Amino acid sequence: GKLGIALVGLGNYSENELAPALQETQHCYLAGLVTGSPDKADKWKKKYNIPDKNIYDYKTFDTIKDNPDIDIVYVVLPNAMHAEYVIRAAKAGKHVICEKPMAITVEECDQMIAACAAAGKMLSIGYRLHFEPHNLGMMRIGKEKPFGSIVKMTAENGMGDTKGWRLDKVLAGGGPLMDLGIYCVQGCRYTTGMEPVAVTAKEAAKTNPEKFTTVEEGLSWVMEFPDNIKAACTTSYSKEMNKLRAEAQNGWAELSPAYEYRGIKGETSKGKMDFPQVNQQAKQMDDFADAIKNKRPTPVPGEMGRQDVKILQAIYKAMESGQRVEII
Ligand code: NAD
Repeated sequence: GKLGIALVGLGNYSENELAPALQETQHCYLAGLVTGSPDKADKWKKKYNIPDKNIYDYKTFDTIKDNPDIDIVYVVLPNAMHAEYVIRAAKAGKHVICEKPMAITVEECDQMIAACAAAGKMLSIGYRLHFEPHNLGMMRIGKEKPFGSIVKMTAENGMGDTKGWRLDKVLAGGGPLMDLGIYCVQGCRYTTGMEPVAVTAKEAAKTNPEKFTTVEEGLSWVMEFPDNIKAACTTSYSKEMNKLRAEAQNGWAELSPAYEYRGIKGETSKGKMDFPQVNQQAKQMDDFADAIKNKRPTPVPGEMGRQDVKILQAIYKAMESGQRVEII
């Protein structure tokens, strides 16, 4: 049968993407909710036909351990709350999906990984692009080298309409780097199949200092990969950008937009990429449910999320110090 998923945090991403995607999944379904808002609970339970016994608030959440309908807890809260809810879910004996960024410090990531391991439960991160055909195409370009070895990467991700907790360093852990730049880090990692060894970074000048009081408005950074491959990346909360590009010895490949939910477009020096559009979130959740059922690893485990957080922290350190920071 299908595994039951409980969404924790019924904000934009849960409401507009995950819940609709769970109407298309084969191996899992929307079985439960965790919300602090009784109004939302009421609206959702009617819309998705969820029994009262599968609805929790943040205080009753831990009793989810006694609910056999819930196999997987999916944490979709502000970044700084991920660690607490992933650890509580693991202690309740549930498999966990945690949204990106996994957490705001590497120490939290370690605790989350340890809690899931201690409970004998699987942990995955909401890296939907690992199930998206054009992004999978970029991974093959690094791996199978149809254009020779990659020599350079460029990645950009920016949005212009950010508000709420994303502008609060306490809840977000940082600015656009945590929210959007993480896709550039991911894109360069999964395209090259390599790990960056060092970073340099420069904060963008603030055009709106009243809005960006605790987080950066924008940031550019360079990741140094082995074989002298450099990845030049930019992120912003004031400029729309969406691109992932690989230059190789005998050609190139580029996705633009690269990271959207829909309408990913790809081109290479040999012509347009011809891949279908898929429901990324449905694929991602189905793959995790299938991994649990078949006791195989997930391609997007907690360790991958931890590595990204480690790189993000190094980028902030480089930005603040103005120094090249090695990633050990
Ligand atoms: P959102 O602000 O729309 O929703 C956050 C939810 O958390 C709300 O329902 C809010 O009520 C709840 N919440 C509980 N305690 C809170 C508190 N102290 N402060 C603020 N909100 C609180 O945010 P979102 O866009 O749904 O993002 C949620 C998470 O999902 C983030 O970690 C984000 O990075 C991630 N996300 C991932 C993707 C993706 O493509 N993988 C896309 C969007 C968001």
